Amino acid sequence: MNLSKLLKPFITTAALTLTLAGCGGENTSEGEKDTASKKEEQVVNVYTARHYEADEQVYKDFSEETGIKVNVVKGEAEELIERLKREGESTEADLFITVDGGVLAHAKDNDILQPVESDVISENVPESMRDKENKWIGMSTRARVIVYAKDRVTPDLLSTYEDLTSEKWKGKVLARSSTSLYNQSLLASFIELNGEEAAEEWSAGIVKNFARQPDGGDRDQAKAIAAGTGDIGIMNSYYVGLLANSSDPEEVKVAEGLGVFFPNQETNGTHVNISGIGLTKHSKNPENATKLIEYMTGKEAQEYLSANNYEFPVNPEAEKPEILKSWGDFNMQELDFDTLGKHNQKAIEIFNKTGWK
Ligand code: FE
Repeated sequence: MNLSKLLKPFITTAALTLTLAGCGGENTSEGEKDTASKKEEQVVNVYTARHYEADEQVYKDFSEETGIKVNVVKGEAEELIERLKREGESTEADLFITVDGGVLAHAKDNDILQPVESDVISENVPESMRDKENKWIGMSTRARVIVYAKDRVTPDLLSTYEDLTSEKWKGKVLARSSTSLYNQSLLASFIELNGEEAAEEWSAGIVKNFARQPDGGDRDQAKAIAAGTGDIGIMNSYYVGLLANSSDPEEVKVAEGLGVFFPNQETNGTHVNISGIGLTKHSKNPENATKLIEYMTGKEAQEYLSANNYEFPVNPEAEKPEILKSWGDFNMQELDFDTLGKHNQKAIEIFNKTGWK
């Protein structure tokens, strides 16, 4: 804590230097005046599997505020975990960021993360949204909701994920491929809450009611509802926000025709998954990395992320954007995010067995 206060004047200087260097393009061509600051250049290196524009802006704001440069390497989560294992002590990465509680647990199990110690973070993020040992810290959540064609379905017809397997939805249900981690974690949650047999029944029942074979991503299910291919879709909540606020008027129209329904409110809650950040075991810049986590879980960044990527903030102080407020509050599944990883293989097995492509 005190250290960051002591460092503050220096950091401000570094920020100015970086900003100037940034204007000139390649910051290696700045000449001798750069040499002094170069030695002390403050950086944090991020390996991230998140693919959202809002994150980039948050990194930029953080750099402007602290003078700490954020270097980003993007990749698939599993690739990045393998890379971190391979690089071992020589890794440049300070932070590992990904979506999905199962993947976060997997990263932790592979011993590439270390506990983060920060009172600021403990205050920003409720315990349920962090790893027990603080080897990862939640940064946002997303609900896997039911969306429906407002002109053909009324919400009183909807209740649970399980109900989507009933006869009345035959030929009407849309969902993406089972190769998506989003669906794998959804099914993993059912395995945990309802058991394997029920999970298998559910998967088979959805396949039986498909409007078409799985095609495209979550957004494409919404588009297929607009096109009349089906009436009901399973998708992550934030994609509805992204469509509604898209620069493409067609996508805005798609969102206007959609209702958002949070299933299983009377039973075990709507499936929610988490995005999180872990400090790498061999981080060379742990103080800067901790500062970035503090920043990303702070009220301001949390509100920015929620207002621009439409995920739910983990920081209870952060205000949600209007569209999320308009969906209302809801009960979420109560389970350890780790369990999503624990049942991942079984979920894939069930999908394959039941013919969910
Ligand atoms: Fe996504």
